Amino acid sequence: MLNQFTLGYSVLNEAILAYSSQSSFQHKPIFLLLGGVHADEVEGIHLVNQFVNHNLSQYSNYPDLSVVCIPCLNVDGFKRNQRVNANGIDLNLIYQPQIGRLKLKTHDIHLGRLR
Ligand SMILES: [Zn+2]
Repeated sequence: MLNQFTLGYSVLNEAILAYSSQSSFQHKPIFLLLGGVHADEVEGIHLVNQFVNHNLSQYSNYPDLSVVCIPCLNVDGFKRNQRVNANGIDLNLIYQPQIGRLKLKTHDIHLGRLR
């Protein structure tokens, strides 16, 4: 079973979607598959979407790991076919994995504030 949730909203108020193999991430390491940080590099976005559609459900009963997929982090950049977000920020330069991990646990991330 796939769980879809909204991580937060972009600068332009677009939903940033994530998918997980499980509904709870507690007490398990998270394997994060992230695409679209540089949104003009579309291969990663398509790759993560393919994984969500064809492979993610295989991990639903995996006991030691939660798989979380974010096909496109930079949704504004993807719409504009540009590397940076709507404020001209390169998200790769300010991305901190531990922040993503903490916020994934609460499902409360506001990437639109990464300015
Ligand atoms: Zn890149």
